[in-house]
Order: sequence, then structure tokens, then C-alpha cells
Amino acid sequence: MSNLELDPREIRCGTDAGTDGEVLPGREVPLGGPRAMSVSRTLPGAHRRMIGAWCFVDAYGPQRAAMRVPPHPHTGLQTVSWLVEGEVLHLDSLGSRRHIRPGQLNLMTAGRGISHSEESPETVLHGVQLWVALPGEHRHVDPGFEHHPSLPVVSGPGFEATVVMGTLGGASSPATAYSPLVGAEITVDGAGRVPLSAGFEHGLLLDGTIEGLERGSMVYHAPGRDELRLAGRGRMLLIGGEPFGEEIVMWWNFVGRTHDEIAAFRAEWMDGLDSGTSAFGSVAGFDGPPLPAPVLPGTRLKPRGRVR
Ligand code: MN
Repeated sequence: MSNLELDPREIRCGTDAGTDGEVLPGREVPLGGPRAMSVSRTLPGAHRRMIGAWCFVDAYGPQRAAMRVPPHPHTGLQTVSWLVEGEVLHLDSLGSRRHIRPGQLNLMTAGRGISHSEESPETVLHGVQLWVALPGEHRHVDPGFEHHPSLPVVSGPGFEATVVMGTLGGASSPATAYSPLVGAEITVDGAGRVPLSAGFEHGLLLDGTIEGLERGSMVYHAPGRDELRLAGRGRMLLIGGEPFGEEIVMWWNFVGRTHDEIAAFRAEWMDGLDSGTSAFGSVAGFDGPPLPAPVLPGTRLKPRGRVR
């Protein structure tokens, strides 16, 4: 699995078969800690900030590491945790306690506010952590957590896809989504023709090393394509959705709409560290203190659209 034999020149879409997609390079980001993990971050990028409602894409592994992310808050988004290898324990302020294993989905809806931790023993970890921005009308929903142990699989010529979020090829994930989107793990063997929603923009995150593309890169395709043609063998993650029409402010673990709103989220979290109570609740069962928020930048945070 770790070696894709896909030829990037074969990554073509729909009628625009002669044009490669735009390549979004991954940035290596160290996550810190004693047996630190490093991730490849493709969203938000310097230019392209979102694909559909997907606003954050971290891919990691396979690497031997211990994940240890102390309790921290989120607002205005959903976190999508998907593993190819390993096991991670999720704890949150709703009292959820759930291991995630390969092929399962942990979906956490932050809505108006939640806090959680993630940890693993030292092991081989390989997976993604993704965020979906909630549209304005739903961003203050009650926080929630869903564990989906099995997900629908769609197959067609040369491919098999597990539908993690949203809809692909007529199959829909049972996971709660708040905007039209797709998230799927696709395995290609031969000449694959994967049906796409023409109204969606898409990103294809290749898993493994492939000639002509740096490890962790994503290939972006604009709306207007109804099919993804792939040739070779390998695994990839497809994300997509209707282009997100709102500008958002994304800072630390918060998604909001204005600088002042983010500053208020931060103050609420930091006050809670002192008082022991906050709107973000507390995470029981994690051995260690919660994460303090970084200092806000000296300039006001600006709302940004899907491209910069
Ligand atoms: Mn988190």
C-alpha cells in the first residue's frame, strides 16, 4: 500500500482528459511531543484554502510514533479521523471514549464548542485528520460524536471506494454532514473510472510515493467533471464538495467568522483552564493537563474565502 504505482500522467478527469489537475504540495508540520509525529498538511494551503467544506487536511505515516494530543477545544467544524494503520483513542467533553481502527470513522461535530484528546501507544500510525467547516446556519449546533464501524463500499471498473462522508456513486455515508460533500478512500487496480458529482470541486490525496509528485501532495480538480479516470494500482483519499461560499476565520483549533469571535473562543478556553469550567467542558480520563491556546497575533485575523 505504501507504494503507489499510479502514473501521475494518467490522473485525468472527465472531458478535460488532456490536462493535469493543479498540484497542492504538502507542508511537513511537526506536531511535537517526545515521540513526535510529523504530518503532511495540504489544506489550508498558501493559495487554496478549502475544497468544498473541507478546510484542513493532515496526512501522516506510515511512521512509528505515539500520538499524544492533550485536551483542546474546537468550534464551527467537524473532525474526521480515518486510519489506514494503527489505533487511536478519542476522549471528549461529552464523555465519549472510543478507539478508532482502520476502516472506521470517528466523526466529531464541534458546533458551538467541544473539547477532546487523542492518544495512542507507540505503534505504526498511518491515517488522516480532516476538518469540515460547518456552514453558517449550522455552525452553532450542539456538539456531537459519532463512531461508524462500517461504511458503504462502492465498486466499479478498476476501483473500490469506501464512502466515509457524503455521497459517491449513489452510496451515502451514514455520518452526519451539513453541506453537500464527499470523502472516500479509493483503491484502484487497473483502469479505474470513478463517478464524480459535476457540481463539486475535488482533491485527490495520493497515499505513498509517486513519480513526479511529492509525497503527501494533493491533486485539485475544479467543478465540472463527472468522472475521475485513474490507471495503476494504489490507494488514495478523495475529498470534494460544493465550493464553500462563505469566508471563514480559521485560527488554532477554532473556525469562526470574525476576529472578535475567535478572540472570545480563546478567552473562554483560557478562562476555563483557570476556573475548571468553560463552555468547552472538560475531558475526563486523559492523563495530563489540557493545551493552552497560543497568543493571538498582533494584527486582526481576516476572514478568508476558499482561495487566497
Ligand atoms: Mn482536535
